[in-house]
Amino acid sequence: MRKELGLAPHDPLDPRDLANHLDVAIVDASDLVDLAELEELERLQAFAFSAATFDIEGRKIVVVNPLRTTGRQNSDIAHELAHVLLAHDLSEIREIDGMPFRTCKPEEEEEATAFGGTLLLPRPLLLSAARRRASIEQIASQYDVTVEMARFRYNTTGVASQAVAR
Ligand SMILES: [Zn+2]
Repeated sequence: MRKELGLAPHDPLDPRDLANHLDVAIVDASDLVDLAELEELERLQAFAFSAATFDIEGRKIVVVNPLRTTGRQNSDIAHELAHVLLAHDLSEIREIDGMPFRTCKPEEEEEATAFGGTLLLPRPLLLSAARRRASIEQIASQYDVTVEMARFRYNTTGVASQAVAR
């Protein structure tokens, strides 16, 4: 994907550019419903809705919640694009406050989260960051991801010990 986008392994990847490349539309939820309704849903159940993918006449549309930080939106979009790239079937129905949402199987959710994080923060990128002794917070702000995502990828890839070992 990075090669197709002309990005080096250590370059930041804007998931909106990747979406465009994959011909997936990104739509802000406040373009579809009132922002006040999104705020009401958030009040009823925080983080109930972050992003969702719809297949409309063969075109994938990812709807994102504008109440999230850009770092969180980037994670959410990368997660949804991971589902698309892995050709997951959006089949299971889950209800939140009486509203049906289509969702994937739990193991596919884990795959999408892992692959989405890898798209944003691949191992070579993290290794170069570890070698210049960037902190988790610095990685998060430089690559516009959440601190949680930066920490998760930094720790699970084990780049810190590799950077020390040389
Ligand atoms: Zn998912």
